[in-house]
Amino acid sequence: MKQYFNKLYKNANADFMAELRERLDKDQKTFIVTANPEAFMFGEKDPEMHALLMDEDVTVVADGIGIVKGAAMLDVQVAERIPGVDIAENLMQYGHELEKSIFLLGSKQEVLDAMGNVLAEKYPNLKVVGAIHGYVPDKDAAFEEIVQAKPDIILVALGIPAQEKLIYKHFSKFDKGIFVGVGGSLDVLSGSKERAPEFFIRHNLEWLYRIMKEPKRIKRFYNSHVKFIFRVRKEGRKLRK
Ligand code: UDP
Repeated sequence: MKQYFNKLYKNANADFMAELRERLDKDQKTFIVTANPEAFMFGEKDPEMHALLMDEDVTVVADGIGIVKGAAMLDVQVAERIPGVDIAENLMQYGHELEKSIFLLGSKQEVLDAMGNVLAEKYPNLKVVGAIHGYVPDKDAAFEEIVQAKPDIILVALGIPAQEKLIYKHFSKFDKGIFVGVGGSLDVLSGSKERAPEFFIRHNLEWLYRIMKEPKRIKRFYNSHVKFIFRVRKEGRKLRK
């Protein structure tokens, strides 16, 4: 588990965003994994997820407070959270400023429609070159369309780890592009789902808000986050022996 923490991006959110803008500007191919405890837990079970988390060409950032706290418990210094939803939103803004193109894969059709309206209104200089919802049976065929479109920004919203594994599988076919698995970010940025109120964000309680809003998440939360805490504690104890 510690190897995943060691690979995390360690600097501040603002530094990360500045680097991201520059990479977009210079067409530098980039794959960002916004890690939550689930991502690292999958990494231990799933060889493909493990390989991509450890790949030198993949940037892993701490999406949630669980990863930041877990890092501290294992003596890895990570400055702060870099939430995936902020990355997605900033990429839209940078894409608008730099007149780039975007392709969206995943989430529901109505979310994509609403997102299209938001993009046209708020980021008119960002060109939408394709949008395919996440319930098509053949996601590999959908990715071939992305290869053809050669977009500058590719947001994949299928949930962890499906989105990361799909990007990783097709990544070598691209010469450029900023690829991010964004989970439920399009639901939020399209206005279809509300992000947690400021209070929850400020106190690092977004996870609690999401469970309150969608109680069916509790099982998933237990299976990843609660087991994760025990797993990190155990590793921390080993470290201190
Ligand atoms: N999703 C999808 N196809 C699927 C399963 C999920 O497009 O087969 C989408 C879903 O609509 C949502 C996103 O994937 O927009 C995952 O959201 P969730 O909030 O579960 O992800 P998290 O942010 O918790 O990783």
